[in-house]
Amino acid sequence: MRRPALLAFAAALVLIGAWPARTSPGVQSSGNSSSATDSEMDKKLASIAGEAMTDAKPYQYLEELSDDIGGRVTGSAQAAAAIVWGTEKMKAIGLENVHTETFEMSRGWTRISANADVVSPIHHRLTLSSLGWVGSTPQGGAEGDIMTVNMYQLADEMSSNSAKWAGKILLVVRKGDAPPPQERRALFAKFGPFLKAAYDAHAIAVIGGQGGSKSQGMNITHTGVLGFDTSYDIPVVSLTDEDQEQIERLIDRGKTVRIKMNVQNRFTDGPVQSANVIGEIRGTQNPEQIVVVGGHLDSWDLAEGSTDNGMGTTTTLGAAEAIVKSGAKPRRTLRFVLFTGEEQGLLGSLAYTKLHKDEMTSHVAAVILDNGQGPVNEFNLGGRADLISAAKDFAKKLMSFGEIAVNDDVEFGTDTGSFCLVGLPGINLGQDSPDYKYTHHSEADTYDKVKPDILARDTTVMALTAFWIADREERLASPWPPEKTAHMLIEKHQDSMLKAFGLWPFGNLGSEPEKKQ
Ligand SMILES: [Zn+2]
Repeated sequence: MRRPALLAFAAALVLIGAWPARTSPGVQSSGNSSSATDSEMDKKLASIAGEAMTDAKPYQYLEELSDDIGGRVTGSAQAAAAIVWGTEKMKAIGLENVHTETFEMSRGWTRISANADVVSPIHHRLTLSSLGWVGSTPQGGAEGDIMTVNMYQLADEMSSNSAKWAGKILLVVRKGDAPPPQERRALFAKFGPFLKAAYDAHAIAVIGGQGGSKSQGMNITHTGVLGFDTSYDIPVVSLTDEDQEQIERLIDRGKTVRIKMNVQNRFTDGPVQSANVIGEIRGTQNPEQIVVVGGHLDSWDLAEGSTDNGMGTTTTLGAAEAIVKSGAKPRRTLRFVLFTGEEQGLLGSLAYTKLHKDEMTSHVAAVILDNGQGPVNEFNLGGRADLISAAKDFAKKLMSFGEIAVNDDVEFGTDTGSFCLVGLPGINLGQDSPDYKYTHHSEADTYDKVKPDILARDTTVMALTAFWIADREERLASPWPPEKTAHMLIEKHQDSMLKAFGLWPFGNLGSEPEKKQ
């Protein structure tokens, strides 16, 4: 997959179009013929690609964000420092209208400590971390026997077994047949009611990761939240896969496993404020039409948040910088946004679409990168099947970066989800990131996991994609009406998950077969 950056760079220029230095000063666009317009666009794209592939700044930005600021939990001092840092970077790059837009989340949260030991039938120190926005054990910890809870039968577990949960530490396991893929998000949504039931039943704690998921191995844990702007009073911890496997083996052999656990976290008394960071390159012909380009500035705190989502932050800054330096001007406005609150449930992007509600009809698309450290290999068009053909044509221009597949998948695991909800193409730049399963929300999410050539390549793909949308002669897209969006989300099996998380704004819309216009 990986190729030397300069090779890719040279190939990109050949495929995209003319080398900028070869541009003949006498060539003028007539503005009437689409091939002349295409070639004008290709020249601009080539010069943006040249800037993006030869600029090492995004990798420097990533080092500053990772090593100088570090983990950036929304509402924390580090997140505030990152907001100042992002604002300064956007100003230094030369973006226009650089500002922050504040929003409120219901509570702030700080991790303090998490320790646990198996005390019987063996003695063994466990490696674990607390999930975010969950509670604490009593000071000094608590001791209890492990009781397993089958994630695949949560409803049964709650109705049949919750009377036995008092004083127990509940270990989430998976036994029997897994539900089909389209029901997995709904399973995530059922985890919250289970955590409430466990708290009400006086269980000590729950061992189970984000949405009841297991750790990925390599002796690391994965933190995360368990809903959208939601907190839980019961402590919930992520245990390493290695430790969990051992406990499950002991239980399978009929042994009673007893654990002492001490988890301490702190909630704020009331709401906390955060902010998105925004800067623009104003459009020359339709400045009122807006293409959002972004990633999220916040991260988890077990490490540096370099892959999630230092990548998206620095590709966004790098894309902006490449376009500014190329001198190419888009017809429409490119609005670069570093969201915060993503990790607590897309809070920054949801706040953005709310704040800019009246301006949404002028929005064209949102391009988001948030799938780890790998090369972009997919455009997920957020349910907008009507754009597949245009996006495929564009993806051909990027062939020298490897094949980019195009589909209309909807992604609610990134800020694209907020834009899909308002009928816009929330375009997820899907990445081939096999190691992301280890770095995701873990102690291993550090600067060294990002390769500079991949960062440069992804910065380039993001810059070109954003500019292509903003500078096309024809507007790529307009928001769909709510009924059409609701219908699409139902067809994509997103409705039950969105309803369970309280994110479904459509009432009964979309349940009827779509009317032919
Ligand atoms: Zn992320």
